[in-house]
Amino acid sequence: MPDTQLDLTHRPIIKVSRGIPTSDGAGVKLTRMLGHQGLMQLDPFLMLDYFSSDNPGDYIAGFPEHPHRGFETVTIMLEGKMRHGDNKGHSGVIEDGGIQWMTAGRGIVHSETPEQVDGRMWGFQLWVNLPAKLKMTKPGYQEFDKTQIPVDQREGARVRVLAGKIAGGLKGPARSAAIDPTLLDVTLEPGARFEEAISDDHTAFVAVYRGGLKGIDAPNLGVLGKGDLVNLEAGKDGASFLLVAGRPINEPVARYGPFVMNTEAELHQAVRDFQTGKF
Ligand code: MN
Repeated sequence: MPDTQLDLTHRPIIKVSRGIPTSDGAGVKLTRMLGHQGLMQLDPFLMLDYFSSDNPGDYIAGFPEHPHRGFETVTIMLEGKMRHGDNKGHSGVIEDGGIQWMTAGRGIVHSETPEQVDGRMWGFQLWVNLPAKLKMTKPGYQEFDKTQIPVDQREGARVRVLAGKIAGGLKGPARSAAIDPTLLDVTLEPGARFEEAISDDHTAFVAVYRGGLKGIDAPNLGVLGKGDLVNLEAGKDGASFLLVAGRPINEPVARYGPFVMNTEAELHQAVRDFQTGKF
């Protein structure tokens, strides 16, 4: 262990935010872990929804046609399949273990529909803000199935690297230039420890979705404080969690439903553009 390691400070869990049960789309039951009254945003992250159900009634109606402008949506499927299609002619299915990083930019209208009539739907959708200079960028997609996600097998830990570069050198395939994201899907055995350096100037949090870490059980979100090194320990049942980090954008945020801009005037423009079919 190099001496420099000793100078690193740990990033403690400084706040636990309880997930709020809610529903969205055409009645999909989900847990809002970020983007609610208790925790509106963690710049550059705007929202995190978690869905987990083996009752088709909770998810089957999906998310019919709706717009987005000014940010990115990241869909992470743990189990189940989600079909998407947009008004630009792009479509496909996000399958278990896969990720879709969609840059809505200046605007898309799309639908997200379960590609299954039974079984479990399990996963997340994360909303990532875009800086002013990229809000009106051309829409685009990054899509990766589970075979394209590198896996780091450690002592008591399995780390899927969706975005960012980890200590061992593995690099995740997803990119977002403005925020230089880290997105890891980590599973720990009971009592196992996990350590990873995350740049001190990046916002970081964990979203625990199975079992528990010391101080936080599933399904809850833990905000990580300042420091250089994330250091977490699983409880007696082990733990699965997302580790999410990125560079803050530090700009004013004006949001109205599926539109996230810098000013109220830009929000009004977004609504007008959507209503007049300019997306
Ligand atoms: Mn959507």
